[in-house]
Amino acid sequence: MSLIDSYNRKISYLRLSVTDRCDLRCLYCMKEKMNFLPKKDLLSFEEISRLCDNFIDLGVNKIRLTGGEPLVRKNIIDLIQLLGSKIDNSSLKELTITTNGTLLSKYAEKIKKSGINRINISLDTLNKKKYKEITRFGLLDKVLEGIKIAKKNDLEIKINTVALKNFNDDEFEKILLWCNKNKLDLTFIEVMPMNETDSHRYLQFIPLDNLYENLNKKFNFFKIDKNTGGPSKYYKSEKLDINIGFITPLTNNFCANCNRVRITSTGRLYLCLGQNEYVDFRDILRNDFTDSYIKEKILFALNIKPKEHNFIIEKNVKPYMQRFMNVTGG
Ligand code: SAM
Ligand code: SF4
Repeated sequence: MSLIDSYNRKISYLRLSVTDRCDLRCLYCMKEKMNFLPKKDLLSFEEISRLCDNFIDLGVNKIRLTGGEPLVRKNIIDLIQLLGSKIDNSSLKELTITTNGTLLSKYAEKIKKSGINRINISLDTLNKKKYKEITRFGLLDKVLEGIKIAKKNDLEIKINTVALKNFNDDEFEKILLWCNKNKLDLTFIEVMPMNETDSHRYLQFIPLDNLYENLNKKFNFFKIDKNTGGPSKYYKSEKLDINIGFITPLTNNFCANCNRVRITSTGRLYLCLGQNEYVDFRDILRNDFTDSYIKEKILFALNIKPKEHNFIIEKNVKPYMQRFMNVTGG
């Protein structure tokens, strides 16, 4: 079975935000004061699992847990085990997670034992003071310790670094070399205008083509065909052991190859990170609807998946998106 949208894109990847809450408040992701969703509105693990089963039946073979910070959701390991068990019992091929890493020391071993092999960790600086500044109160050492424990447990790690003007633009090469030394793949990401935070997006935004050109002078990248069906273009270098990715939603639109949809923690299926179309599954899951009805709704939703996002970052343009990134999870 395949999920094909009206632009003939095959959808095989579901990103699942399990909470909008987080133990950090990254300046480009959230405002300092946020209103989080009432816990009673969150899908239960059983509801999430049933929804996932229907997506898997229809052709989804990869699920990523995200948030907010997925590891702050109470009893998250129970959900990881529940979804991880589907890898052997259905056509699900991979379960993975994107985390800020602060709770990895506690959870890495259980994550690995539950069937997750690869994780993404977000890290925008290697400087303790700057880490605290960008996350508003995070401790870099906690994340570095988490990475160490995750590596000990044989989790493959990719670091995600959002490129931020006048913040980490002096650190890109340092982060790259640190990742190389520690055998961690690395992806740079352009900041996206997801709602208004406390700082203007145009003050944060760096186009990644500049960053690529600068690093390329030193490392002579060559493109590799690492087809994750995702937005990232991957490169290697004779001088490096790791893969380097660039995600460029603003400067190089990749929507024609989009393979993903997103569920929020309350059960809204968003068809595009940068658009507003959604179908709400919470009431459907909480009332007496059959799995066939759920599948019908998923297929309906695919028909309204937008062609592309319209991200614009300019001085006097307010973000079109009124959702923060933590709702759908990056
Ligand atoms: N809390 C987890 C984490 O930070 O990895 C998962 C959720 S977070 C929203 C997922 C990813 O989105 C992170 O890599 C984060 O850096 C990125 N992100 C958040 N806001 C963003 C924005 N406005 N533009 C680009 N990336 C953003
Ligand atoms: Fe939390 Fe991740 Fe958003 Fe940072 S990027 S505030 S860690 S959800």
